[in-house]
Amino acid sequence: MTRVLVNGALGRMGKSVVQAVLAEDGLALVGAVDIHEAEDAGLAAGAGKAGVPVETDLAAALDERKPEVMIDFTRPDAVYDNVMTALSHKVSPVVGTTGLSAAQREEIRKAAEREQTPAFIAPNFAIGAVLLMMLSEQAAKYMPDVEIIELHHDHKLDAPSGTAAQTAERIAKVRKAHHQGHPDEQEKEGWEGARGADYEGMHVHSVRLPGFVASQEVIFGGLGQTLTLRHDTTSRESFMPGVMLAAKKVRGLKGLTVGLDQLLD
Ligand code: NAP
Repeated sequence: MTRVLVNGALGRMGKSVVQAVLAEDGLALVGAVDIHEAEDAGLAAGAGKAGVPVETDLAAALDERKPEVMIDFTRPDAVYDNVMTALSHKVSPVVGTTGLSAAQREEIRKAAEREQTPAFIAPNFAIGAVLLMMLSEQAAKYMPDVEIIELHHDHKLDAPSGTAAQTAERIAKVRKAHHQGHPDEQEKEGWEGARGADYEGMHVHSVRLPGFVASQEVIFGGLGQTLTLRHDTTSRESFMPGVMLAAKKVRGLKGLTVGLDQLLD
């Protein structure tokens, strides 16, 4: 049994994770933390009584509940401190919260090595999104003109999404940086941002609307043709098999591992 603490246990993802951990063989829910208290994490998640309260002090909960793994779905501005606190307690973080900078990831990598405590980060735990990233990297070798459109619910804080950022980074590994679109287009941009964010010449557009969970399109353009790869998350359940897999595997990893594809056979 792997002992799990869920951080952000009262959030949209946190509640789904609490439900999934309670139902998963091989995982035991031993702790729950959020910015607000609740009497029982299972009841708050709509999964029946779990006998685990939702507490507000992460360090104290790590000391008392002695988890081996902390699953974090909190906020972009809180996740870095949460991960460092977990590592200093020799608890392995499994991080779904997006918004970590490259510099913060590097600090996490060093802390995981220093504390000899493996850590895992996935910008997207849905298998379809992982395949979208893999296929995008393949396609960009042959069709290097590409734009990314990511579409999320309107409660999302960070932009671009972690998935869009990781997709762009992976494409950049196989695509030579170059300007896309008309060479003079910047001078003619009537409304600032109309062409989206620019990552090594690739344009990334972030849509925020009620009704979406998480979707992404990667559009490749070539002579006389376009190719569109699209993934839609219709329910947060899509993330749970990946989160459960990471919670079970993280203790067997070394240092920091990024991306669900690293855990797939
Ligand atoms: P959410 O509903 O706002 O849940 C976050 C929860 O954490 C809330 O209950 C929030 O309380 C609480 N919280 C805030 N600061 C905290 C802290 N310092 N310590 C503990 N808990 C804290 O957000 P969500 O939709 O579940 O998403 C959470 C994160 O996961 C986002 O970054 C999102 O982009 C990411 N995400 C990742 C994946 C993936 O596959 N990797 C999938 C979906 C979502 P308040 O509401 O009071 O602030």
